[in-house]
Amino acid sequence: MLDRAVLACYAHPDDEQGVSGFLHRCVQQGARVGILCATRGEVGEIADPSLATPETLGAVREQELRRAAAVIGVQDVFFLDYRDSGMAGSPENADPRAFINADPHEAVGRIVKVIRAFKPTLLITFDESGIYGHPDHVAISRWTTRAFYAAGDPSCYPELGEPFAPARLYYASLRRDRLKQFAAFLAQNGIASPLGEIDLDQMGLAADQITHTVYVPEYADLKRRSVEEHRTQLLPNSPLSVLGDEMWRIFRSVEYFALVAGTPVPEGAPEDDLFAGL
Ligand SMILES: [Zn+2]
Repeated sequence: MLDRAVLACYAHPDDEQGVSGFLHRCVQQGARVGILCATRGEVGEIADPSLATPETLGAVREQELRRAAAVIGVQDVFFLDYRDSGMAGSPENADPRAFINADPHEAVGRIVKVIRAFKPTLLITFDESGIYGHPDHVAISRWTTRAFYAAGDPSCYPELGEPFAPARLYYASLRRDRLKQFAAFLAQNGIASPLGEIDLDQMGLAADQITHTVYVPEYADLKRRSVEEHRTQLLPNSPLSVLGDEMWRIFRSVEYFALVAGTPVPEGAPEDDLFAGL
């Protein structure tokens, strides 16, 4: 296939960091790569009050995402223009502009429109749990999954462009058993876990659900430079600052994917080739 493209669909600026190594590798291999972001992370924290106010945070985080994307060679960034819904149970959940309150037909349509214009071979989003249950993560996973099917269906959204069916849908996630090993290692070494109180049994995917594992140790420094562009999110207690350099490097050197829909992967294909057989 000559024209290879990947569209990574996420909820907030900085969600893309879980797949930034794979996205950069795709750029290096000549693929077109885009990042779709449902919100501008308007209700996130502000690490340094000189960088943004609650009123300007969305605009600031849009620029942070554009810079973080540019570091990994990605120029195409699309926003769905919904508002960050905040953590589950927060007052922002009730905002009518919040992504979790979006009309499903409209939300899927906005993703379909981007798919039909960008024509990605692969669509990537969070697993159904949103890795740790953030309501916007769950929503982008659900609506991207629907958009995967709708984009290629001429009877869906005929007003939003020519039908285009991506070849495969992947959920990017973490591997639960590895996460537990990592947490145990941190505990043994007296390092406070950046995962906090999150129930690891609810996080990520089981090993047998992971279909593709991509090792990107050579891009660990680049990934770090990319994530550090999200300056408003560099909180003193963030995983980035809690983990030492070496721990951070190990954690960020591998990315996990589960093929959930589309063209099956040929028998015996390398476990890091998400395009195999296309
Ligand atoms: Zn997020």
